[in-house]
Amino acid sequence: MTGQRDVVVLGGGLAGVACARRLGDEGIGVTLVDRNDYHQFQPLLYQVATAQLPAEDIARPHRVIFRDHPTVEVRTARVTELDVAGLGLTLADGAKLSGSHLVIAAGAQPEFFGVPGAAEHAFPLYSVADAVRLRRHVQDLVRAVADKELGQDALDIVVVGGGPTGVEITGALTELMAALASTDHIPHAGRIFLIDRGSALLGAFSHRSHEYAHKRLTDHGAEPRLDTGVAAVHADRVELDDGTAIPTRTVIWGGGESAAPVVQAAPGLEPGRGGRVDVLPDLTVKGHPDVYAIGDAANIPVRHGKTLPQLGSVAQQSGEWAAANILRRRAGQPAKPFHYKDKGIMAMIGRNAAVAEVGKHRHQIDGPLAFAAWLGVHAMLLSGVHSKVDAFLSWAWDYFERDHAATVEWSARPHRIVWSDDDADHPHISLGRS
Ligand SMILES: Cc1cc2nc3c(=O)[nH]c(=O)nc-3n(C[C@H](O)[C@H](O)[C@H](O)COP(=O)(O)OP(=O)(O)OC[C@H]3O[C@@H](n4cnc5c(N)ncnc54)[C@H](O)[C@@H]3O)c2cc1C
Repeated sequence: MTGQRDVVVLGGGLAGVACARRLGDEGIGVTLVDRNDYHQFQPLLYQVATAQLPAEDIARPHRVIFRDHPTVEVRTARVTELDVAGLGLTLADGAKLSGSHLVIAAGAQPEFFGVPGAAEHAFPLYSVADAVRLRRHVQDLVRAVADKELGQDALDIVVVGGGPTGVEITGALTELMAALASTDHIPHAGRIFLIDRGSALLGAFSHRSHEYAHKRLTDHGAEPRLDTGVAAVHADRVELDDGTAIPTRTVIWGGGESAAPVVQAAPGLEPGRGGRVDVLPDLTVKGHPDVYAIGDAANIPVRHGKTLPQLGSVAQQSGEWAAANILRRRAGQPAKPFHYKDKGIMAMIGRNAAVAEVGKHRHQIDGPLAFAAWLGVHAMLLSGVHSKVDAFLSWAWDYFERDHAATVEWSARPHRIVWSDDDADHPHISLGRS
């Protein structure tokens, strides 16, 4: 089957959804293709991985998101090939779609940098399926340790990568272990190691944030190992490049990402840094004025040869901007260079602990104020996919302030984000690779 609509969007993450919504607001025909029938909100993945939220609470069906946008058609299918010259793509069943514009918003995948054993044995944290797999794995280990089938050290975990993902999951895991130990689930907390090649945690942040994150994590029992690389990952241990090894059954990979495979393999697209598409300032691909690449799939230039980081607000804003440029071109006007409204960078390190560097001059804040900044930015991101953002705000304040030890709902039901009672609002999450 071959179909032609106005705009074809590959990817229903923050970037693709923002683009399709904006076009749908103007009544433009859009076909949005995603292999999942739901959008997944990555900033809350580690809450799913540590059993503080069920997977359904951070995923929303695309058909519900576009309920009020009749000109946006959602196709659930895997895209096997991009046709940049023909403004189209091929689906796994061989069907081809093309349009007047093609928007590439396929996001990223974990990048293992060729570390032997990492792809086979490490747990990435990029999708809700990844988060659920990790949660089940740790739950099984907790049960086995509680039943004395395995020794206490079976709960030792190695996190690779000291960026926001690694720091956030390490913070959540140390709290989880302490809480499990305090409620007598396990004799004492598993050790949490955090490995990074760099000499500071949260490398992209300021010195003050490096120190804050380091102190907060070590105060809670985490064991950062800096200036250290991972040489190999095995089912029962991690080998480090200083010649030592850490016995572990759980390696969590927050060590990097590269563009989705279908983007890296696209004929006619020369992959740039991280396999991403180097775009022009107006977000189009050089030589293809009707092809846009946005979000995590793109290297979006700023100045002095630098590109924007892979962040939710970059994805959302670039999606909206690409849509606005498509509307401009349809009206016979020239496309405009993307202007990013920088919200700053932030990381939530645990309950009552966050760092944020906000505004043009990267004003540094930490603690509850930083958490409030985190909340504001993430509520804004979620507003693109949910109408009841107050439900998120009330969950988040409760999460931030609650005494974790009293509320480890490891086997019971976690405290939910009360999005909706509507069954149609619940996604069907398959645990295949997604
Ligand atoms: C663990 C984690 C925590 C994060 N925390 C934060 C945070 O706190 N704050 C922040 O600002 N950012 C955070 N980020 C980054 C942020 O989530 C991303 O920058 C943003 O979600 C990227 O959006 P996107 O739309 O470009 O890609 P994605 O959200 O990855 O969407 C891409 C979509 O394309 C689909 N797709 C890919 N290939 C195919 C194919 N071949 N066929 C069909 N469909 C396909 C995928 O299924 C997916 O739905 C975090 C990221 C991770 C992984």
